[in-house]
Amino acid sequence: MTIRPICITGNPVLHTKALEVTVFDEGLRTLVQDMYETMDEAPGVGLAAPQIGVNLRVFVYDWDAEDGSEQRGVVINPTLEISEIPEGEPDWEAESEGCLSVPGERFPLKRADRATLRGVDLEQNPVHIEATGWFARIFQHEFDHLEGILYVDRLIEKYNAEAKEIIQERGWGKDDISWLPGEEKLEG
Ligand code: ZN
Repeated sequence: MTIRPICITGNPVLHTKALEVTVFDEGLRTLVQDMYETMDEAPGVGLAAPQIGVNLRVFVYDWDAEDGSEQRGVVINPTLEISEIPEGEPDWEAESEGCLSVPGERFPLKRADRATLRGVDLEQNPVHIEATGWFARIFQHEFDHLEGILYVDRLIEKYNAEAKEIIQERGWGKDDISWLPGEEKLEG
């Protein structure tokens, strides 16, 4: 298994709709193993294939639920149904997200409280998960990655402007910038 570099915002692969997986082979298995390892090392609660430069509809997640259970898995070619996204100002304390492709930053945004994730696993067995709260938020964040959407794209205007400023200050927002979990410690 290999820890792979994580693409930072600006790399076109993060801003492009990912492709359906059609071949379930050793290459896909290796990709998923590498994604788990990269997510764990980062560390993160989710990682989508485009974040390591692979334009395929795959994400992994690892979430310690409120009841103490660990939710860890992979989904390939997912669909996501969500409940209504509440309106109003997002709460800094309760609704701030981060992203390994915008490392070291956090901003709040509203998400749906419920999400139904469907897809398949590496053996092409069906995946069907009903998630609520933060688990549902993780699915919305990772699914967005497969659509070429980053959470910063969804921020309300004042936070979006702040995020854009930071991205510019750091010299991000262009092609071919990445960081390697475990080797490089980012400031902030
Ligand atoms: Zn992300």
